[in-house]
Amino acid sequence: MISTRTRILTDPVEAAGLLREGKLVAFPTETVYGLGADATNPLAVERVYRAKGRPGDNPLIVHLAGAEQIEEVAAEVPEAASWLLEAFAPGPITVIVPRGPSIVPAVSAGLETVGVRVPAHPVARAVLKAAGIPVAAPSANRSGRPSGTTWQAVLADLDGRIDGLLMGERPEVGIESTVVDCSGPVPAVLRTGGISLEQLRDVLPGIMARGERLDASPGTRHPHYAPTARVTVVDAPRPRDGAAYIGLQQPEPGYVITEVVPDLESYARTLYAFFRKADSVGVKQIDCERPPASGIGVALRDRVVRAEAASDR
Ligand code: AMP
Ligand code: MG
Repeated sequence: MISTRTRILTDPVEAAGLLREGKLVAFPTETVYGLGADATNPLAVERVYRAKGRPGDNPLIVHLAGAEQIEEVAAEVPEAASWLLEAFAPGPITVIVPRGPSIVPAVSAGLETVGVRVPAHPVARAVLKAAGIPVAAPSANRSGRPSGTTWQAVLADLDGRIDGLLMGERPEVGIESTVVDCSGPVPAVLRTGGISLEQLRDVLPGIMARGERLDASPGTRHPHYAPTARVTVVDAPRPRDGAAYIGLQQPEPGYVITEVVPDLESYARTLYAFFRKADSVGVKQIDCERPPASGIGVALRDRVVRAEAASDR
């Protein structure tokens, strides 16, 4: 048994009770672990930014037990948001809608809008249902680090900085939600993620892909998703001394650690934990095979390219 300053919880109802008291509790979702706080409590929200070391201009996503609860947090529900929630909620979709008065402005980093999501993970659902409040939950990691996809990763970053950590099955998707701005005249993808552009286009054929609109989502300006080791995106893996490799094709022997994944879904599920594993064994270089740009590969490519860019700073 390990000794922790943060309480390790197994009961979603207990986690919900702490959230209602204004405490910070991390819990698993199907994307990554979330760091939850009551989105109607200014002090709790303020503590989330401090615990993560998150810049105050990077808004938090509000998590709900059910799509119908959006009426309680939005000033207005645009049609595009309703359609997306109907098609993909519960699941890895975040809709940006005009913010209602119940949500403290700091959740949205002062913006007039709020990001809303209904997670599919059974443990997250149980917490949100028992809490009965909207829960602001950014990824449960120190700002700038890879998102936490295991309880060990969450503890490594946040032990003693948060009140509780609820255990549960590992996130199925492994990368963050797709963020769609539904607050303007044309819905636009602000961040790629667990729901692909192809899936979105089935519901909203006119949706703008990420990058088609000039203003990117606030948080995507910040360095993100980066391990301590240098990351290089490669098309053909050529092992170098002391390097790690993750990708779909079998590399030449010579890498210190390798993770050969059978498909893009497992690539996404494994990426952040692999980054952390490489850091923990002291690898200085990680080669990531460039993911093909289809389905979840688009979001995955965004994450590895961004990790590479962060190493170049
Ligand atoms: P995280 O919870 O760490 O995955 O990050 C949440 C991300 O969602 C932010 O970095 C933004 O990119 C996006 N987001 C959340 N709320 C808004 C909003 N009101 N407007 C635009 N983007 C948002
Ligand atoms: Mg994050």
